[in-house]
Amino acid sequence: MPQPKPILIIGAGGVGNVVVRKCAQRPDVFGEIVLASRTKSKCDAIAADLGDPRVRTARVDADKVPELVALIRDAKPAMVLNIALPYQDLTIMDACLETGVHYLDTANYEPPDVAHFEYSWQWAYRERFAKAGIMALLGCGFDPGVTGVFTAYARKHYFDELHYLDIIDCNAGDHGKAFATNFNPEINIREITQQGRYWQNGQWVETAPLEIHRPVEYPEVGPRESYLLFHEELESLVANFPSLKRARFWMTFGQEYITHLRVLQNVGMTSIKPVNYNGMEIQPLQFLKAVLPEPSTLGEGYSGKTSIGCQIRGVKDGRERTYFVYNNCDHAECYRETKAQGVSYTTGVPASIGAALMLQNTWMKPGVWNVEQFDPDPFMAELMVRGLPWHEQIDQPLAFADVLENQR
Ligand code: NDP
Repeated sequence: MPQPKPILIIGAGGVGNVVVRKCAQRPDVFGEIVLASRTKSKCDAIAADLGDPRVRTARVDADKVPELVALIRDAKPAMVLNIALPYQDLTIMDACLETGVHYLDTANYEPPDVAHFEYSWQWAYRERFAKAGIMALLGCGFDPGVTGVFTAYARKHYFDELHYLDIIDCNAGDHGKAFATNFNPEINIREITQQGRYWQNGQWVETAPLEIHRPVEYPEVGPRESYLLFHEELESLVANFPSLKRARFWMTFGQEYITHLRVLQNVGMTSIKPVNYNGMEIQPLQFLKAVLPEPSTLGEGYSGKTSIGCQIRGVKDGRERTYFVYNNCDHAECYRETKAQGVSYTTGVPASIGAALMLQNTWMKPGVWNVEQFDPDPFMAELMVRGLPWHEQIDQPLAFADVLENQR
């Protein structure tokens, strides 16, 4: 029997809270858990509530490689789960290289001073990780994460070639606040206010922010207006499934959310360009984050469901076929289990599954990898029993049966 292995989790926000609790539920896989973050009191609060003697806490500024290296040498984890922010991806990867431990994250690197994210910075670590004999698993949340596993599962079991992929992400929940983001506000708003982009016939097509939208029917939720965004898994999925002729990502937003966002944008509050205020440089978006509710505080009283899935068209044995695979997740049930809302939960559960598969050597290959590059079956099996059961519809009509090429 393999021994449980110690891990280091960095980040104690909405998602970090779920990851710690889900890992603590599996003492057969995870041994001592060190939970570290910039604000140690948040780690302490989670650990106290959990009351598990295997969880201890620490303070770390993950922007600083020497601090990370010292913490890793002290905690001696088998792997680091980066559940802080995308800004810390490279420093944490550097520290993993220096100490020879495996790495996992849920969002790709983004430089703090440019609202731009892509995998190139992290893919550039491939050779160094491979040479060091350690593994990095990138984007192991829900989207990115489960959406990549869903796509790989579809390819493995139902298609010879994938042609059209539409990832549809609906949060039909209600947290009762006038305006709040379900994950880190800074990262969330940077993602939504940038240009839209989708893959078509071998190239990226750009759109204005939230320019293309249409109602989409979500299972058990009904029709919701869905907006075309660029989302990071599109970049790795079109690289790993080159037969894709088109790949798009859609997300729902309520009218209230869009109105708040438009006003905040119009008055300059979503800008990342520093402004001088009373002799101090401040970034409007960072200030906005400071006054918005933290994602980890939204869980109590949150009602409704998330519904996220992949709609795929392609061919099998020369015949066209359609496939839809999705998960629906209930905010209130997530809160009962982990004191978190559904968006934190749907991100944290896959991170804990990915980490377990790595430590069990089921998904273990030195180098830097995206989730769709591994066998999807063990991950899909784990989703079923760890709180994110999925459903599939084969050869049923899809929302995107009509090809939208002519829409613009
Ligand atoms: P939160 O803002 O709730 O939490 C972020 C945590 O990271 C906080 O504890 C914060 O500390 C900590 N942190 C920030 N900077 C540092 C630093 N320099 N050193 C140490 N700790 C730091 O965000 P979420 O939990 O909602 O999101 C966490 C991650 O999950 C993000 O990268 C987000 O993009 C990703 N995500 C991925 C999804 C997916 O499906 N793949 C979906 C949703 C989120 P402090 O309290 O001091 O600020």
